[in-house]
Amino acid sequence: MEAYCVKCKAKSDMKNPKVVRTKKGGYMAKGSCAKCDTTMCRMMSKEQAEEMEK
Ligand SMILES: [Zn+2]
Repeated sequence: MEAYCVKCKAKSDMKNPKVVRTKKGGYMAKGSCAKCDTTMCRMMSKEQAEEMEK
């Protein structure tokens, strides 16, 4: 999965993405940047989250 890395200032591959719920009930993928290991997250739709949890 691709996400924006603030450290690389570019889109990068996310390692070990995990689906987490936000306080507002939304879904977010959380993982680390494949290039620099910085924690990165990305907002997801419910459909995307359910697809990942399979
Ligand atoms: Zn990075």
